[in-house]
Amino acid sequence: MKNILKIIGGISLLLLIVLIVKTVSNKPIVQNDAISLAPLPEHAIQHISEAIQMATETPNDFYQYDSATFFAYRKFIERTYPLVHQKLTRTIIDSFHYIYEWKGTDTSKLPIVLMAHYDVVPVEASAVKLWHAKPYGGEVKEKYIWGRGVLDDKSSMISILEATEAQLKAGFEPKQSIFLCFGGDEESNGRGAIAMVKYFQSKKQRFDLVVDEGGEISTEDNKHIQQPIASVGVGEKGYVTMVLSVQKAGGHSSIPEKSSTIGILSKALHTIEENQIPTRLTPPIKAYLERISSYNNNFFEKMKLSNLWLFERWVLNDMTQNRSSNALVRTTLVPTVVNSGVRDNVIPTFATAMVNSRILPGETPNSVKSYVEKLINDTNVKVSIYPNYESMPSSTTEVNSAAFKRVEAAIRSVVKDVVVAPMLMVGATDSRNYRAISNGVINFTPLTDAKGYHGIDERMLISDFEKCFNYYTFLIQSTK
Ligand SMILES: [Zn+2]
Repeated sequence: MKNILKIIGGISLLLLIVLIVKTVSNKPIVQNDAISLAPLPEHAIQHISEAIQMATETPNDFYQYDSATFFAYRKFIERTYPLVHQKLTRTIIDSFHYIYEWKGTDTSKLPIVLMAHYDVVPVEASAVKLWHAKPYGGEVKEKYIWGRGVLDDKSSMISILEATEAQLKAGFEPKQSIFLCFGGDEESNGRGAIAMVKYFQSKKQRFDLVVDEGGEISTEDNKHIQQPIASVGVGEKGYVTMVLSVQKAGGHSSIPEKSSTIGILSKALHTIEENQIPTRLTPPIKAYLERISSYNNNFFEKMKLSNLWLFERWVLNDMTQNRSSNALVRTTLVPTVVNSGVRDNVIPTFATAMVNSRILPGETPNSVKSYVEKLINDTNVKVSIYPNYESMPSSTTEVNSAAFKRVEAAIRSVVKDVVVAPMLMVGATDSRNYRAISNGVINFTPLTDAKGYHGIDERMLISDFEKCFNYYTFLIQSTK
């Protein structure tokens, strides 16, 4: 008995030592000391203000473009960035999407792509009165530039163009070619990006790195971590919507059957909500936890995150407590549309619902559908995939890849003491199409105060604009 106790004690001690060693040896990456940002070029603020004043609202289809505004925007870009238009070759794809090629001196190297979109989501007429500035006024006040699209995504497009123009003026010559790709319909159907990728594929053009919008810097809500965290998008979840339909002979509501279409459908939806797909850690989220854990200043938290081999279930459970982190560790399922019934005294013949799902890497639209069917386990409920909108989860860019490291260096050059962590994107961007033709795709813009996306009071800190300008300048200079 004594021996058994000794063995248990020995094992516990060993375990404790392993946990502590793993925790203590999990050290953060050494930070750079000082950051020196180049000031924004003269008139850059005026330029972005002008860009906002053109309401390039996203079209629902190709024929609904407000072409006068989109052409005016093109003229504005041509007028404002003369060197870009003298020295780079522009190709126009489907009227409103632009590819600029800046030829490098070493064509044996694969080029990089800096991409952005300049269409914006519409401003809700009823919400205009809630804004603290005119949505299309391009006002500059209280350290911010205000207006629809200033964050999403004219901040990127104008910063890329300002950086390119400035580098051309300074006589910079890239070794690696640089492509600037600007889409005009990202917020609606993203056909522009698809057409641009097709264009590159027809030329057999591949890339070393593609940088697009997506991740940003958070300075709050970082429990136990004092530094700012840059969440760098390295992959995207997939997408599928399922249609659940129930059909039964309806009839007079005075003589109902035991179960109705609405009742059967409701039960199915309830079952889905109560039995979500189990959580798991995918490689990008594991890499994210590894990175941020090294900066955690709560020993116990750090021990948990540094020893996922033992505490994975615990960590997963913690992550499900918050809706944002929950979405990172599971394929989500949520009902979004329900339809049935015509009158209060008629039992409906049909009841349908839509269930939207965002899919983790490793699963597919079909595997999600099978899961739902098995779960409901009721032949009265037909499950089908809503056509044309499903997409597979994207491949992911590794933290150790050259693509990630280059963007990481760019981020460290503009933000002091920043924690650079990979992140899985829960929404889709134009860049997903580029994964097929690039060695790495990264979603990141160094915005620290990104509030108002798609909503009221969209505004950007002038200091963030300066960061964006320097970030793209670094990426341009990294091609030499
Ligand atoms: Zn966007």
